[in-house]
Amino acid sequence: MHDSLRVLRNGEKTFQRIWTNLVNAHKTEFNFKIVLRLHVNMYNKESMKQLLYKISRNLASDNRFPVFIRGLGKFGGKNDGLLPVVEGEELVNTIKDLKDLASGLNIGLVDGSIISGAQCYASKFNSLIIRSDGKIGKCTVALYDRRNIIGEINSDGTMNFEKDKFSWWVRGNFTGNEQQLHCPLYAPGSMRD
Ligand code: SF4
Repeated sequence: MHDSLRVLRNGEKTFQRIWTNLVNAHKTEFNFKIVLRLHVNMYNKESMKQLLYKISRNLASDNRFPVFIRGLGKFGGKNDGLLPVVEGEELVNTIKDLKDLASGLNIGLVDGSIISGAQCYASKFNSLIIRSDGKIGKCTVALYDRRNIIGEINSDGTMNFEKDKFSWWVRGNFTGNEQQLHCPLYAPGSMRD
């Protein structure tokens, strides 16, 4: 089911690689947390249950892999009308069923407040996104905005980091401005060039 929706640009499947990476991470002693964010859609409830059983068998004893379940959403793209979104009561009931199953399988759950909440992760000091090309950013929406490239991991493992840009993203912590905490990208206060 995952592979019917999440494919590479060339159409290649992605599930097995992600799963292998998770299992390999599980085998390490490193201190990290990977939230497994699972999106419910009109067709994947049974597949989601199978995945929860798989997580239970392979990762549930490891509290570094909590699960976050939410509905597939429409965010204004040109393909919104094609998305098999579940809404309303059906979504609430489906998520409840899956969460109950996960709890029964001893899988750790997180709710949305850890991932989003009143304060966007982009305005938090301890949240960075690492892009596939090594670039470092803050916001998961403005992926092609130059303000959101605050550094880069070099091939030798060193890092370039633009402190002023970083400070702009976390400015709400100093000003106390709620908009800047809630969404630093669209809140007042421009970034100096
Ligand atoms: S658009 Fe705003 S709220 Fe969304 S991730 Fe970026 S900074 Fe945060």
